[in-house]
Amino acid sequence: MALYMSKKLEQQLKAVTNELLIHQLTLDNVGAYIFMKDLHGRYTYANKKVRDLFNRTLDEIIGKDDNHFFSLKESDELRVNDNIVLREGISIEKEERNVIMSTGEVRYYWTIKKPLLDEQGKVMGLSGISTDITEQKLLQIKLKEQKILLDTIINNVDAYIYMKDSNCRFLFINDKTAQLFGTTPQQAIGKRSRDILPQDIADNFDIMDSEIINSGEKIEGEESITGEEGDVQYYWSTKVPIKDDEGRVLSFIGFSTDITQLGKQRRALEKTAATDELTSLANRRSFMNSAFNEIKHAKSQQKPLAVMVIDADYFKSINDNFGHHVGDETLKKLAQTFLYCIRKNDLVARIGGEEFAIMLPDTELDMALLVAEKVRKRVEAVHLSDEQHPQPLTVSIGVTIMAESDVTLEAILKRADKALYEAKNSGRNRVCSN
Ligand code: GH3
Ligand code: MG
Ligand code: MG
Repeated sequence: MALYMSKKLEQQLKAVTNELLIHQLTLDNVGAYIFMKDLHGRYTYANKKVRDLFNRTLDEIIGKDDNHFFSLKESDELRVNDNIVLREGISIEKEERNVIMSTGEVRYYWTIKKPLLDEQGKVMGLSGISTDITEQKLLQIKLKEQKILLDTIINNVDAYIYMKDSNCRFLFINDKTAQLFGTTPQQAIGKRSRDILPQDIADNFDIMDSEIINSGEKIEGEESITGEEGDVQYYWSTKVPIKDDEGRVLSFIGFSTDITQLGKQRRALEKTAATDELTSLANRRSFMNSAFNEIKHAKSQQKPLAVMVIDADYFKSINDNFGHHVGDETLKKLAQTFLYCIRKNDLVARIGGEEFAIMLPDTELDMALLVAEKVRKRVEAVHLSDEQHPQPLTVSIGVTIMAESDVTLEAILKRADKALYEAKNSGRNRVCSN
């Protein structure tokens, strides 16, 4: 009987020992720090991860408190948390920052601490499970730092920065852009340009926006905003696409800088280069450029196009009789007279000394001849002199229209010149066509 009992006891003991070993093995192989402490904060158990962290055996740990393993002077969150559990008998789940004494390393843990209660329900210690979240925490800190850096740059750099999704809705705009649009970043998010800006300004932005979404390529170009008083601000914009793995544009980031001053100077320069200084009409070069586009347009639309060449009659005698200065003033008067006789879309230019050209888009020969006659008559009516010194001012005009065979402006001008030559030869102050 005694033998039977002791065998049973032996079996029970073996079973308990086995179970204990399994528990220990499990606890030692779990990827978390598991420990138990008594009421005084002294360790009563530490799994392998804790032992490895302290670089001590279980015997060396048991009975000692955290003063032996952590620099509690530098971070005593651990002791504060232990005290809450031990004194108040409540469980806590918290992030803990601990400084390892042996290495001085700072590590972050997600810690769950629970009170251990005796049979009477009195706190006799605590059990804890901590997971090392140092890597995530450091990443989080780094991300936060980067966000601060990015925010600081974006809101202090002298540029308009914004991000839009593939439907051109704002995902982000910096303070400067929000101020320009008369809104706040919060109000602009999720909206399209047309929701916060006047239609014509939004239309201008939409041109580049749809270009980047359709092409998926980085683009650069000029954009403008016309204010209520007609003042125009110019911006140089760079838009960079953000694409998914299949190359579809998910969103894009835009950077714009104010180039109004630069733009104004450039446009002024361009205007100067295209303008005749004396009469302020277009010069020969500018006329050639504009005429080239008009010819192309007329040909593609199969629209008629008329050209007239005008030359002042006996202009040399005006200079001779009244001086070069009066000659100059007369050229200005002629320019004004021509402008008076033409429509907004017609081109008028000074193409030589006292020679001018007018291009009339969408105009047949009979209409062009009427305009030429109107010009001739108006010039004739200009008074250059008083009654004692009569000085006629007249012009001769050669008119032609674009033929199907005309490829260049030169061909058209040549025909108009021929008609002008005819007008001169047949007595001047007249209109001839060819
Ligand atoms: P027509 O054309 O009727 O044959 O006679 P014209 O006297 O007008 O012809 P011509 O070509 O001989 O003379 C043109 C004159 O125009 C000569 C030139 O001194 C004058 N002229 C050209 N450019 C200017 C200018 O910018 N200012 C002034 N004052 N005179 C100019
Ligand atoms: Mg001439
Ligand atoms: Mg002349």
